Amino acid sequence: MTTNLLDHDLEGLAAFCETLGEKRFRATQLFRWIHQKGATNFDQMTDLAKSLREKLPASAHIQSLKVVSRHDSADGTIKWLFDVGAGDVIETVFIPESDRGTLCISSQAGCAVGCRFCSTGHQGFSRNLTTAEIIGQLWFAEHFLRQHLGRSERVVSNVVMMGMGEPLQNYSQLLPALRVMLDDHAYGLSRRRVTVSTSGVVPMMDRLAQDCPVALAVSLHAPEDALRSNLVPLNKKYPIAELLDACSRYQSAAPRDFITFEYCMLDGVNDQAEHAQQLVELMKKHSVSGLSCKFNLIPFNPFPASGLKRSSMPQVMAFAKILIDAGMVTTVRKTRGDDIDAACGQLAGDVQDRTGVQQRMASQRQGMLKGIKIVSREVGV
Ligand code: SF4
Repeated sequence: MTTNLLDHDLEGLAAFCETLGEKRFRATQLFRWIHQKGATNFDQMTDLAKSLREKLPASAHIQSLKVVSRHDSADGTIKWLFDVGAGDVIETVFIPESDRGTLCISSQAGCAVGCRFCSTGHQGFSRNLTTAEIIGQLWFAEHFLRQHLGRSERVVSNVVMMGMGEPLQNYSQLLPALRVMLDDHAYGLSRRRVTVSTSGVVPMMDRLAQDCPVALAVSLHAPEDALRSNLVPLNKKYPIAELLDACSRYQSAAPRDFITFEYCMLDGVNDQAEHAQQLVELMKKHSVSGLSCKFNLIPFNPFPASGLKRSSMPQVMAFAKILIDAGMVTTVRKTRGDDIDAACGQLAGDVQDRTGVQQRMASQRQGMLKGIKIVSREVGV
């Protein structure tokens, strides 16, 4: 079996070159051909010695992902479904804006965290993606888009690890992929333009701060532990106080001077004035330890299995006003790609649940919903 060179960061590729008896600088040449020029064939790599080009196919290959389908939204958003084998399909989304092109990448086939408002969470968990499968999403999208849009310069300017999966539960495969994204010989993205989003895997947040401090987004979704444990089950293991302490520690290494808190607005569940006030108090308490933050309010994208509803836009704006009046930087996320099920929380792919999460969630759904105070209200702006 030969090695997929997409599995390596530059250091890994240099070590691979040494196993072939080649100098380490060959890795830089290979790296540029693979990631900057999108080469999949060693014959294309004309500045490599002919003897190396002939030697490589016996031990290496460059294999991206198999496309199942592509969906184009009216707003320019593009979603791809990729077949990663054994019945697992993952999703990747490109979101174009006037000043940037953001790619939302998956880190796992499914997810074991099981957040109640997330389609992926309801699907259960199959397996971790490999580094090649994570970076392969960027490799494919970047080179496809250059061709599709007829551009020779970089199209993807920002990456967010907000697709399917909890990236920090797949740390060993994530880390080399992040390094490839940042490497000037590959994609050369700045650390501020690569965001890892986590539901709060505290020990791995500390590891990421040391190993590769990129921008951090944290899925908060509630101002107190009982409610957050209902919405994000990982909160039982790493409660809010521990999570915010980890955010403060992360901030000293972070490339941005704030941590982004994601807050999915759920009608009658976490969107009341009292929740906003609790959030303000919580953040004031933690600002003493140096934590500064930005809130991103996300209108929920409903799906039947969740049993949850989207907050009305007036409710979202009233919530935002309380945060803003308290001096907190707050934005409301624009929904993009919802006509192709590519909006936040809608990514579901198709995975074989090997952990029973799906079944567990279905049987717990009733019981868990009893623990959430739902205020009935008409939905709609
Ligand atoms: S929100 Fe993220 S961590 Fe939670 S279930 Fe969905 S993919 Fe997993």
